[in-house]
Amino acid sequence: MPSLSKLFGHDSAQQVLRRALESGNLPGTYLFVGNNGVGKGALAQAFAQAVACLNPQRQPFDACGACISCREALRGHNPEIVTLSPAGEQMQIWQFWDRDNHPPGVLTHSLPYAPSLGKKRVYIIERAESLNESAANSLLKVLEEPPEYALFILLAAHTARVLPTIVSRCQTVRLFASPVEELTEYLKSTLGVEPSRAEVVAAYAEGRVGQAIRMAQHPEVGTEIERILDFAEGLPVAPHVRALRLAEQLRKLSGQVKALSGESTSSESEKGGGEEGGKERVGRQQLATVFDILIAFYRDLLTLSVGGEAAKRVVNRDRLTKLSLLAQQGTPERWISCMDSILLARRWLDANANITMLTETLTMRLLR
Ligand SMILES: [Zn+2]
Repeated sequence: MPSLSKLFGHDSAQQVLRRALESGNLPGTYLFVGNNGVGKGALAQAFAQAVACLNPQRQPFDACGACISCREALRGHNPEIVTLSPAGEQMQIWQFWDRDNHPPGVLTHSLPYAPSLGKKRVYIIERAESLNESAANSLLKVLEEPPEYALFILLAAHTARVLPTIVSRCQTVRLFASPVEELTEYLKSTLGVEPSRAEVVAAYAEGRVGQAIRMAQHPEVGTEIERILDFAEGLPVAPHVRALRLAEQLRKLSGQVKALSGESTSSESEKGGGEEGGKERVGRQQLATVFDILIAFYRDLLTLSVGGEAAKRVVNRDRLTKLSLLAQQGTPERWISCMDSILLARRWLDANANITMLTETLTMRLLR
């Protein structure tokens, strides 16, 4: 896990966080907001390490990497930096506080005690939008006034879906995607990703560093992308009557997307119950990833149908011949409206719309 100084992007967020650290006047509760895959988790970990560090570097402020707290954090085992993810679809009250018939709640057994390794206890709460009402209510008091040795970092894709009583208690920090060119360069020069792969991955991830790294590191990602593109190539020429059949294929296809959606890495955090809810969430994540690839595919068609200089920016260059032919099947307006339809479907997906209905509406819009 890179330290604050070695993280890619998020310059303005880092500035805000460093200033708070340097001033010695750190808020007790943060809310990091940004699209899935933008890198909230990595920033939270790096920030947590810097906050807990016993001997932080100055100018710029960062973790030392050598003290006991840092060493444990780097090994991924610092018991005072705790990450909580929802058990299933929702974050439940028993994950925080002791309740009958459940594993011990994290806060009950740590929050009352000052840290012994590092300077602070840090609690990173993933997907804060999934806090159900009773869990959220149980946290209001500690979020309002945590012990001075504790820091809470909540992560969420959008503030609109986090309970307002929670948002109002947090200092909000927004994270944004980076320019695709800068991300490509970072993947190539710092992470050693092969150049053509780095370009493709950065474009698919639309500048979101977390998603790009996930895509770059999985060997099966290439195969999964090819499968989605094979499917996509059938769309511009398919007759309207096949919409429902294609929607079914789309759902099946997204169920096979594992490496791309990071499913293998997130399944760890699903333990602790809520099996069904977890599956549902993974399904949505998988479909969102397929949408990302489809958007890049239609953007290529648009680029090619506009032609000229822009045509050099085609992402799926190894399919150039086929894509050029497909691009002639429609006008730039058609490809733009296809991209709009996918973006809209992605928003519905985030808003928990029914997946069957959502995919059927989408394919009906994509076909002529
Ligand atoms: Zn340290």
